[in-house]
Amino acid sequence: MRAAFMTGVNAVEVRETDEPKLDPAGAVLNVEACGICGTDARTFFNGDPGAPAPWVLGHEPVGTLEDVGPDADLPPGISKGDRVFLGSILTCGECRWCVDGFQNLCEHHLLYGYDPFPGAYSERAAVPPIAMKNLIKLPPELPSDLATVADPFACALNGIEALDIRLGDTVVIVGSGPIGCWQAVMARDRGASRVYLTDVSAERLEIALR
Ligand SMILES: [Zn+2]
Ligand SMILES: [Zn+2]
Repeated sequence: MRAAFMTGVNAVEVRETDEPKLDPAGAVLNVEACGICGTDARTFFNGDPGAPAPWVLGHEPVGTLEDVGPDADLPPGISKGDRVFLGSILTCGECRWCVDGFQNLCEHHLLYGYDPFPGAYSERAAVPPIAMKNLIKLPPELPSDLATVADPFACALNGIEALDIRLGDTVVIVGSGPIGCWQAVMARDRGASRVYLTDVSAERLEIALR
């Protein structure tokens, strides 16, 4: 199969490589699309010790479950062949924070797409056992390329929910990248009467205004 390897800072090469191994407690994803996160861009332009070259990045994958290990624990309602999104923040599920529902504070948290888990800029990608609980089934009407933003979109939504916007509120959003633009739409949806978007990049603002 083919995969895009980051071979060094600012360098990527599409190479033939071995198929991913199926972990008995994991799965293999037939990748249909994979987002390019700001973290991928930072890694690409600056390097990252978690991405030792040659390394396959990509931690916002959408694909179908091509193979599922015999000992795998799939989330309820998901089975082999389903089209899923893989959430990249990997948590142990066993530390006191995870058990109390504060997975964001997990003492052993890791990121899919970084050492030791290669990412999904490849035709097929291994889903490690720790990532099985992060699989989310996708509705058939949602195109795979759009579904890759599930992770940053959830991040934007979480921010808006924390803000508790009321009817008629004025909202200022610092940064008009994809997350800022979504938050502008979400703020309007929640009843904000004025939404200001700011940015240091005129180009970003121009795109945001479209
Ligand atoms: Zn990311
Ligand atoms: Zn934990």
